[in-house]
Amino acid sequence: MYDIIIIGAGTAGMTAAIYARRAGKKVLVLEATTYGGQIINTQSIDNYPAEPNISGYDFATKLYNQVKEFGTEIVFEKAIDIKNYGEYKEVVTTNNTYKAKTIILATGAENRKLGLENEEELVGKGVSYCATCDGAFFRGKDVAVVGGGNVALEEALYLTDIAQHVYLIHRRDTFRGEEAAINLLKEKDNIIFIYNSNVTKLNAKHKLESIEVTNNDGTKQEINVSGLFIAIGRIPENQNFAKLIELDEKGYIVAGEDCHTSIDGIYAAGDSRTKLLRQLVTAAGDGAVAAIEAIKYINNK
Ligand code: NDP
Repeated sequence: MYDIIIIGAGTAGMTAAIYARRAGKKVLVLEATTYGGQIINTQSIDNYPAEPNISGYDFATKLYNQVKEFGTEIVFEKAIDIKNYGEYKEVVTTNNTYKAKTIILATGAENRKLGLENEEELVGKGVSYCATCDGAFFRGKDVAVVGGGNVALEEALYLTDIAQHVYLIHRRDTFRGEEAAINLLKEKDNIIFIYNSNVTKLNAKHKLESIEVTNNDGTKQEINVSGLFIAIGRIPENQNFAKLIELDEKGYIVAGEDCHTSIDGIYAAGDSRTKLLRQLVTAAGDGAVAAIEAIKYINNK
């Protein structure tokens, strides 16, 4: 019987492990693929306190080593189900079943992809899913943002202060995002709106050079850009737990700043939960909060 099983070895999950181990709890971390979560593919992190210019891989590896040094058990198995027996819970993986007094879900969320042929290989070479993380690498250059929700609008606005020109490409002629953000964007003189269009091709030698944009009427244009920011929503990875835990309409675990879910003794940390800002620093913050809440729950029993 573990005190805490943490599902997900991204920043939130690994931070939770550090706090739980420092409090002397018996901790198991379950990870389906590799440690690090979304950050592992980021070329350079500029906005994490006291770690300027660290690569995503180095950041994740430092964190992983720190977690191991605290004696955390990490098993690379995919959690596929959770069962609640009140006093204890069970996590079913593809290979085993584990018991714990509490669970922290730190399963993260995946960026929705456009699905273009070379999209994945150009990540870090012009293609990005986060302007706050990577925008600064495109100072004075031409960039494009694709999407029509609040995130796309905010990313485009952020980039207008950094890039030379920002093309905002949306597949319809009205935005899903808020009017206030649209109005702020319209005041900028370096934004170019492209409606009723999709990005259909990424042209690159070693890094992104231009994009093909196809209008819904079939006409195509090529736009030279060094950066393409894809902001077409995210897909949380919580469906395996939907039978037990309350999710919102988009699949995020319903949990507030205290990380409590709809089930006593089960907590949600990081990108997998409902929250305002999904960043490395807020994922780390959640990891600490979720661990402290789990420790309090165990100690009060
Ligand atoms: P949204 O789901 O709101 O928007 C996704 C956008 O991407 C939509 O415009 C959609 O087009 C477009 N899209 C989806 N799939 C594709 C595709 N395959 N190709 C091209 N375009 C595509 O996601 P966001 O990430 O923008 O926002 C997530 C949530 O966070 C929202 O609820 C948002 O309101 C909220 N948020 C709130 C903020 C605030 O209040 N300040 C700030 C940031 C986010 P279409 O419209 O045609 O479906």
